[in-house]
Amino acid sequence: MNSVVSDKKFIELSSPQKIWLSVFALSLFMLFVALFGGGAKYPKVFLISTFGIGMLSGIVFIRKTYAYETAGIKNNFIMMMKHTAKGSTAWFFGILFTSFYVCLYWHADLLENLVRMVDPISYMLRAKAADQWFLYGTFYTACVLVMGYRMLLKYRHSRYQTVRTLSVMFFQLVFSYLIPSFLAKLNQPEFYFTYFWPLKYDALFPGSVASLRQSGNVGVFMLFWSVAMIAIATPLLTYFYGKRWYCSWVCGCGGLAETLGDPYRQLSDKSLKAWKTERVMIYSVTVLITITTILVWLDSVYGGGILGTLSASMKKWYGFFIGAAFSGVIGVGFYPLLGSRVWCRFGCPMAAILGILQKWFSKFRITTNGGQCISCGNCSTYCEMGIDVRWYAQRGQDISRASCVGCGVCSSVCPRGVLNLENGPKATRVLDEVSLVNMLHDKNKA
Ligand code: SF4
Ligand code: SF4
Repeated sequence: MNSVVSDKKFIELSSPQKIWLSVFALSLFMLFVALFGGGAKYPKVFLISTFGIGMLSGIVFIRKTYAYETAGIKNNFIMMMKHTAKGSTAWFFGILFTSFYVCLYWHADLLENLVRMVDPISYMLRAKAADQWFLYGTFYTACVLVMGYRMLLKYRHSRYQTVRTLSVMFFQLVFSYLIPSFLAKLNQPEFYFTYFWPLKYDALFPGSVASLRQSGNVGVFMLFWSVAMIAIATPLLTYFYGKRWYCSWVCGCGGLAETLGDPYRQLSDKSLKAWKTERVMIYSVTVLITITTILVWLDSVYGGGILGTLSASMKKWYGFFIGAAFSGVIGVGFYPLLGSRVWCRFGCPMAAILGILQKWFSKFRITTNGGQCISCGNCSTYCEMGIDVRWYAQRGQDISRASCVGCGVCSSVCPRGVLNLENGPKATRVLDEVSLVNMLHDKNKA
């Protein structure tokens, strides 16, 4: 990677861009003032000067940056700038995101002033005071909406990217923010219809099941929904469309990665070592949550003794290391340093299950027209899952890798139209282990 030098050398901002960027910086400054007391004292004032002004200035800045440029990918010195090439700005944002997650999970008291700041929205949507998770959901949704707008402009030449981005924006806003809030207002469980076991790891724990059953018919429906989504909808939709139906169209983690994380997608590790690590880690996490769920159930039936101690510590351990530290602190906090899909690639048990289904039981594949490939490498560079797409393109081979989330960016950035995301008859899919073995061999030689 090229050395990182001052970004000013690469970016020439117009006067309106500079003004709106300064306004955005001001809204970040106001966020700090809100954090240190202002948010609790004058919630409405700070709500407008942080979320309101921040979202507005972000949207206008994005419009002034992308709307007048040619659509599609331009490298624009992305491998040299501090923000996108692990320079000082990336470290600043990495530390900022990580600190926020550490406070969120383990020191929520430090966020108290920000939590009070979002009280007015919480009372309006949920008829009760906010907590740190509502604050998180508000930030999360704002990021997906503003950065989703950026995706819409940046990839406006691709219908697939437009519809997919609208989809993640819709699911985040409606299914992960508004519906749970309205349910809370109606005194029903704050249920997230787009999260199921094993991604929502405690969804099938006996305590969660019992609590839903106590909520009457609505709770029983939610329970039925959870089971039906994982047991029926997941295999069926993955058979027809691959794991993309969830990872790149519905999931909130994927939604954030595809919007806020887009400027960092090129940072994904493409090395052979990363590929080997990915396979060990993601399947280990899946085995762990399966064992934990079984143990917790056995404990609830047979109760106590060694089983109780073991299941309690497994539950605690998984919640701390995987549910909080890995998926939140590392998964999002490290976007600017490790790329946007670290959690999805190395840790998410839902992605692991979908990946197995995609590889062995799905119609989905990316077809390649090798004769057209000019080996520019754009596809491999921008694959957030670290797949060496060019390797397949050069050979004219279908890509049906378990890790591919079907984001379609490899296809959208290809200048020659080599790559196509397709759902064809399973029998015509070229799924050969020989390609993978050859690739390992080629990479080992390199
Ligand atoms: S191979 Fe293409 S569609 Fe699959 S994850 Fe990589 S960039 Fe996205
Ligand atoms: S498939 Fe397209 S983007 Fe990838 S190396 Fe070939 S020409 Fe470049």
